[in-house]
Amino acid sequence: MTEITKSIFREYDIRGIYPIEINEEVIIQIAKAISIKCNSENVSEICIGRDGRNSSKSLSHYLEKSLSNFGVDVENIGLVTTPLLYFASKKTKSKSGVMITGSHNPKNYNGLKLVINDKPISGNEIYELINQNIDESIHPGKISRKDIRDLYIKEVIENIQLKNSKKLKVVIDCGNGAAGCIAPKLFQELGCDVIELFTEIDGNFPNHHPDPSKLENLSDIISKVKSSKADLGLAFDGDGDRVGLITDTGEVVFPDKIMMIFSEDILKKEKGSIIFDVKCTKALPNLIKSLNGKPIMSPTGHFHIKNGIKEHNPLLAGEMSGHIFFNDKWYGFDDGHYSGARIIEIISAKNERISSINNKLPKLFSTPELNITVTDETKFKIIEEFSAKCKLDGEKITIDGLRINFKNGWGLIRASNTTPKLVLRFEGNSQSDLEAIQKDFMNELSRICPDIDINLD
Ligand SMILES: [Zn+2]
Repeated sequence: MTEITKSIFREYDIRGIYPIEINEEVIIQIAKAISIKCNSENVSEICIGRDGRNSSKSLSHYLEKSLSNFGVDVENIGLVTTPLLYFASKKTKSKSGVMITGSHNPKNYNGLKLVINDKPISGNEIYELINQNIDESIHPGKISRKDIRDLYIKEVIENIQLKNSKKLKVVIDCGNGAAGCIAPKLFQELGCDVIELFTEIDGNFPNHHPDPSKLENLSDIISKVKSSKADLGLAFDGDGDRVGLITDTGEVVFPDKIMMIFSEDILKKEKGSIIFDVKCTKALPNLIKSLNGKPIMSPTGHFHIKNGIKEHNPLLAGEMSGHIFFNDKWYGFDDGHYSGARIIEIISAKNERISSINNKLPKLFSTPELNITVTDETKFKIIEEFSAKCKLDGEKITIDGLRINFKNGWGLIRASNTTPKLVLRFEGNSQSDLEAIQKDFMNELSRICPDIDINLD
């Protein structure tokens, strides 16, 4: 039997290389642990879905069969995106679901995202249950199949009000990921003129990798938006829970800026809190405060944001990575297609080009996310040492690594939860402020941790 690799059980999810770390035998073990969790939460039915990866169909088959063998009823919604799985889970009495997905990772990866009793379940929690024993049930759970897509599209259309009769031309880039199963139809039914790019699902990702947070994956959609004179471009990640936005002039709008556009729209209608992660621009909390909303900064990571949503019940939450959670008139899970639909709603209500909306946001100078490669064993120690010894003077925020807010900008250094890397980001009121802040941080890092190779990648 395959030895279970502990490192596949992570803070937010379960993820590993197929078939070395995650395979059909491992899925049976994980299904057993999920069944134990379901029992302890009085959950008797669970929804399952899978993305378009080559290994997902087989893993999903074993997951379905094993959950049933352990007595859990299974509603299988087939090849979907992660938001569709969350949506389907919300519709079940138990509000529970499992998605087989490798998200935006290389094609040989696969994994699971879990929600049980409406709560995110970390990979670590499942690992704790792996060695517990439970017998197969004498009454296997019922297995049913359902196609959730039409219901999802119907609800989004009821939810999004397009004021303007002008048909928006939108380029949709699914990067051959699972979003191809829903995004083209959704935006057509919303009344858009859809130009499809890589919407056929192919687990080999033959065109570009389905990760819109990397600029190199956006060159195709930028060219298409420009050549087709489209109103905007929307790029989805492999499992459709993240969105990337391209303006009509071909500019990339970073997710923290997208959050500003959404925050303004929402806070003009109602007051409440908005959660964002430590990597976001300082212009975002400033905007939220100016509109009498309450900004809440969170550690980076899906699990933290989801727990923050449970705790604070904000109107909106989002991360620099592109996960955006609408909780004002949607269900509070991260949903790339729905976020795209809300952008269309704003463009239509304002009757303004998205480039013009974007140009009105404060002009700050920032880096994208920068990385320094270290090791999983040392990354947290480095951050601890840096935080303790850093002599830079400013408002220090230590909820996730060290972020220092200065009068003229801010800098962040934290450990990645998912890779053996340090994550850095800097922002300044001017280009020279940005460069000075970045230089100060890098000098401090070299002084405190002289052994690290501080080449940024
Ligand atoms: Zn994703």
